[in-house]
Amino acid sequence: MAVCFYNEEYRPISECALPLTDLAIQRGVGAFESIRVYEGRPFALSLHLERLALSADGAGIAAEDILARIPLIAREWLSREENKKFDGIIKPYITGGDINDGGKFPKPRFFVVFDSDIHKISEEERQNGVELEPNRVARPYPSIKSTNYLFGFIPLSKSDRNNFETLYITPEGEITEALSSNFFMCKGGKLITAPESKVLKGVTREIILTLARENGFSVEERCPLENELAEADEAFITGSLKEVRSVVRVGKIKIGNGKPGPVAQAMHHLFIKNMERWME
Ligand SMILES: *Cc1c(COP(=O)(O)O)cnc(C)c1O
Repeated sequence: MAVCFYNEEYRPISECALPLTDLAIQRGVGAFESIRVYEGRPFALSLHLERLALSADGAGIAAEDILARIPLIAREWLSREENKKFDGIIKPYITGGDINDGGKFPKPRFFVVFDSDIHKISEEERQNGVELEPNRVARPYPSIKSTNYLFGFIPLSKSDRNNFETLYITPEGEITEALSSNFFMCKGGKLITAPESKVLKGVTREIILTLARENGFSVEERCPLENELAEADEAFITGSLKEVRSVVRVGKIKIGNGKPGPVAQAMHHLFIKNMERWME
């Protein structure tokens, strides 16, 4: 059972409830992070907190005091004897609160979820890869990690495939990112991924780009195009929980030979091998 810090105490999440007046519920106003903790150590915590600050600021949520408290709340919980080996995620949420002052949210609420009941990806799942369903819209205000995923979910319900996530593709055919992951295409020996200005500044994306450059992969930061998918050798998505996952199909288009490929596997190995560098 997940634990949640809310209203100044740590409690089972089932005992926590936001007031129905909160704008997170009424209008989808909220920002959050998912921070992976490996054996008691948070991974890239400071990068996540920096992004949470950007998200809150971008959303007009006055979160300075809350932002200062979140690392202390996380550390306090992780320092408890029974959580020394905690393996799971920490999810801090900042909601709009009850007051909308012309698109500014001066009295936000917050809560922090600690959940060890996460899905760990099996070797078999890694060998199968994932399929994505095209979502032909641009994600608005992409630098904000918003709690509102509605417009990312819609194409999932309209498809009968076993899709893992949707893939945002602009009306101009530019691939930006997936529902809750960044997207990489491998083609002609290059890794191609959308620039930071068009997607969420993914923590895993940034780490994969660093490791790719350090290890002699050539990288192009531009949007992969939908009409390049059929010619791609491989594709993969990145995110804090999934780390690196091969994409074997996008809509009707099979990627490469329809099986996870060596580049995605190499990037995942590099990620695992270098994790220590981002442990905090
Ligand atoms: C969370 C998320 C990502 C991945 O970010 P990480 O920091 O790597 O976990 C990418 N895109 C969207 C839309 C997301 O919500």
